[in-house]
Amino acid sequence: MSDPRTTGSPATGITNPERRTLLQASTALLASGAATHLAAAGSASGAPPSPSAPAAPSAPAAAAPPASNAAAFALAPLPYADNALDPVISANTLGFHYGKHHRAYVDNLNKAVAGSAFAGQSLEQLIVATAGKSEHTAVFNNAAQAWNHAFYWKSLRPGGGGQPPAALKARIEASFGSVEACRKELLAAATSQFGSGWAWLVADGGKLAVVKTGNADNPLTKSQRPLLTIDVWEHAYYLDYQNRRADHVSAVLDKLLNWEFALENLGRG
Ligand code: FE
Repeated sequence: MSDPRTTGSPATGITNPERRTLLQASTALLASGAATHLAAAGSASGAPPSPSAPAAPSAPAAAAPPASNAAAFALAPLPYADNALDPVISANTLGFHYGKHHRAYVDNLNKAVAGSAFAGQSLEQLIVATAGKSEHTAVFNNAAQAWNHAFYWKSLRPGGGGQPPAALKARIEASFGSVEACRKELLAAATSQFGSGWAWLVADGGKLAVVKTGNADNPLTKSQRPLLTIDVWEHAYYLDYQNRRADHVSAVLDKLLNWEFALENLGRG
């Protein structure tokens, strides 16, 4: 990976070879296109400056950690205009979702890792290193939500839905029997997720599968390869659909789903 944040960082809990392989692949997922999520502080990206950690007066200068050089995470631009998904997702919903919710996860992650042993790690490394560890809940939740949302924006596109590209369609038919059966599983996962969470199409071993995750969790923690996702937190649809989650998800599946993005992710293997 060319991202300097993915190299040279001390490993913290990343000992499973499968997870290491998945990290490399998932970093590529977000490194492509508009979701270049990780940017050095001080770049032209508008990233908040990396907080400096002044050395304690009594600390010997030779032992000063390089925390002040750690890069900060930046909120990548949306891959389309904020009204591009209208009327399925209005500009009002997209504006709040991206500009308030997604931005808050990125800002809060920067605060959570500043000056800590996690500073300098990639989103994917943070997710795997902190999953299931109650003492690192804030880092996990914000890192995972920052990753999930960057992935979600790319899982949608204006004029999406319909039939997948032939190569993906063949894999879907091999795993689900038909594209319609896959669609039904995605709808069922998205509507049956209790409370906040996500529905995903993933590659798991040699097969494709539909899974759902609660709150910030994502398939990277289970050594599955995400292909696309649907956000079913209420902030994703409530302004437009109120309690009608199924109507929102159906419209997303039929009119916005970015099958080409899923195929790209499947191809990175
Ligand atoms: Fe969201």
